[in-house]
Amino acid sequence: MAAAAGLFAVAAAAPVVVRAAPEGFKTKLTPDEALRALHDGNERFAADAPFRPEISSARRAATARGQGPFASIVSCADSRVAPELVFSRGIGELFVVRTAGNIADAVALGSVEYSVAVLGSPLLVVMGHASCGAVAAAVDMVEKNATFPGSIGEVARPIVPAVQAVRGRSGDKLGNAIRENAVRVAEGMITRSPVLQDAIRKDKLRVIAAHYGLADGRVEFLGG
Ligand SMILES: [Zn+2]
Repeated sequence: MAAAAGLFAVAAAAPVVVRAAPEGFKTKLTPDEALRALHDGNERFAADAPFRPEISSARRAATARGQGPFASIVSCADSRVAPELVFSRGIGELFVVRTAGNIADAVALGSVEYSVAVLGSPLLVVMGHASCGAVAAAVDMVEKNATFPGSIGEVARPIVPAVQAVRGRSGDKLGNAIRENAVRVAEGMITRSPVLQDAIRKDKLRVIAAHYGLADGRVEFLGG
């Protein structure tokens, strides 16, 4: 994933203290600055640093006139994986799409395209997480021919190729599938979207997969 290259320069760079544009204008952050801002916010979160998110009445009033989120996040609907908390962010800073298994159907993709093309969001993060039940369901589909009630199978089915791709890989099977799924969703969104491709070509967008550790609170950005 070429768009994810250069990730590890992020950790060493100086912290950037930022907020999304308070008056609803597009953010001025570059894709790399946006990634650094997420990284720094997560460091604070993981360290239990005191943090007061921008949720005041003044903030609400300012953002009621418009929004300029500096990152788009596709994350799992899991109750333990709230992006605004994990990245220490307030109102108007993150454009978040949440689906079980952080899969991106047409509606999710269109939502992100809106964030990128209309709102000017310069960064897209597809974030999987440890112990993801949706990915575990896909593993059970592959290994046990498991079936699920209602539409739950429709969530797990798109994850099956990631499960199959990590077969035989060393390490934790579920953990490998979770990371593989996040990377594949990110790549698939680019492949399917001329809108995202155009933004990447113009250096207006960077796309990266990530993995959130439930217990340690840390987000690991995945190169590739
Ligand atoms: Zn999950």
